[in-house]
Amino acid sequence: MTIRTDELVAQREAIAIQVQTPSRDQVMPRDATRAEASEQAESLAAAIQVRSLFAYYGAKLAVRDVSFEARQRAVTAIIGPSGSGKSTVLRALNRMLEVVPGARIEGSVRFHDTDLYGPEIDPAAVRRTIGMVFQQPNPFPTMSIYDNVAAAARFNGVVRGRSQTDDLVESCLTRAALWSEVKDTLGKSGASLSGGQQQRLCIARALAVNPEVILMDEPCSALDPLATLQIEQLARELTEQYSIVIVTHNMQQAARVSDETIFMSVDEERAGYVVETGSTAEIFTNPKNKITEDYITGRFG
Ligand code: ADP
Repeated sequence: MTIRTDELVAQREAIAIQVQTPSRDQVMPRDATRAEASEQAESLAAAIQVRSLFAYYGAKLAVRDVSFEARQRAVTAIIGPSGSGKSTVLRALNRMLEVVPGARIEGSVRFHDTDLYGPEIDPAAVRRTIGMVFQQPNPFPTMSIYDNVAAAARFNGVVRGRSQTDDLVESCLTRAALWSEVKDTLGKSGASLSGGQQQRLCIARALAVNPEVILMDEPCSALDPLATLQIEQLARELTEQYSIVIVTHNMQQAARVSDETIFMSVDEERAGYVVETGSTAEIFTNPKNKITEDYITGRFG
């Protein structure tokens, strides 16, 4: 992965006091009646719509004319060879790309009915609503397990007072499938946990500011096989409440964990582009494109 600045910014943002930052509902209003109208219809709806996205680093075109939808309460996997623009696209989804000096996009990214790049949109609020989990687990090293989850929620006014915070910490750690392992050691440093536990702690931390979408950038690449399976299982479980977009170079993982797959590629003449999108079952068993078939059968990449 070539992008690093944004991870630092994400960490800083999570601990920065957001003075009078509008709440998610102010920034991206939700239609409460719709949520109740039909759960099934909603789960088929797109949480994120990307249209004709071009991404540049300075003069370099990194991603070309990318369009896709990420369904609500589903796992969407972005797969493809190294350098095909997967991370760049992922970071464009929550406006984390623009913190890389010289990086910019053209095209549109919509979250439900909201243009995320509209002039009235607060990028910090976007990054809370569409949270991100990185390749290397990055809990705040000097903070306890408890504070890793509580800090951003406190600073953002999601909770006030000890008992509300206790409830939130328990509920986020439970949803991140970590509570039973840490409930008696909440005061210990987040850095004392195993890699897989740290990654689940980072997921709990992302959940603490009430996101709707979680972006995961190769979240298992630093983990052992057991920890990997736990994160994959967790990603599936999280679709009860959240929409997930995961970048992975591991095709078995994409096949195991995702509902929909976006296959990106790159070649000498072109910047990263989408070759094909579809249901994961279709892409893996009956790809329409020869390049997709070659990639999933391990002939390149
Ligand atoms: P992938 O995630 O598929 O490996 P990336 O999105 O990381 O691909 O990279 C897509 C292209 O953009 C690559 O050519 C890469 O070298 C380039 N790139 C990524 N990050 C930067 C950066 N910070 N500055 C300049 N070029 C970058």
